[in-house]
Amino acid sequence: MNIILLGPPGSGKGTQARSLMEKCGLVQISTGDILRKEVAEGTPVGLKIKDIIEAGNFPEDDLIMELLENRLKDSDCDSGVILDGVPRTLYQAEYIDRLFEKLDKKLDAVIELSVDDQKLIARLSGRFTCQDCGEPYNDTYKLPAKEGVCDKCGGETFLRRPDDQPEAIQNRLEVYHEQTRPLIDFYSESGRLKSVDGMKQMEEVSSQILAIVAN
Ligand SMILES: [Zn+2]
Repeated sequence: MNIILLGPPGSGKGTQARSLMEKCGLVQISTGDILRKEVAEGTPVGLKIKDIIEAGNFPEDDLIMELLENRLKDSDCDSGVILDGVPRTLYQAEYIDRLFEKLDKKLDAVIELSVDDQKLIARLSGRFTCQDCGEPYNDTYKLPAKEGVCDKCGGETFLRRPDDQPEAIQNRLEVYHEQTRPLIDFYSESGRLKSVDGMKQMEEVSSQILAIVAN
């Protein structure tokens, strides 16, 4: 079982990927991971990437695809993979089709976690955590029982991340939609796109994804 998981930041994609790894024995492959691995191991490609990243650039598609091919050949990928954060471009999507064919693998499903932008912004911009124990809270969904006091540790200082400001989230969503639209069209035209409502409860999203994977 090989799948591609698409979803904007804050859609719970990471959580869903972890749950698929645990329940289906799939290996998660993200661009960041394969890039970091090559750089850490100091391979010739890794050194090249290090130069590119240190110069403030992002490695080209072909280089990323070369790394992906190497990674897919590892034996732990035989039981199936979840591609996360890749493909990012139409070029990569077409490349991956050829790559899978070459490696005699099948892309079984492309799962999109669809979201309602305005609801997602409301959900994410309400997030805050206890500074002392990291307990997560939300203005709308989960306030401390006693105002200003952490339920878990009694701490009284809470943190909000600057990138959880509504404008910042709106920005990330716009970038995501712009990047992803061509991919959604590409996979939907070839009948491979499965959409799951990412605004539902985590467990429900999870069971919908499992139902797709089980087919
Ligand atoms: Zn706390």
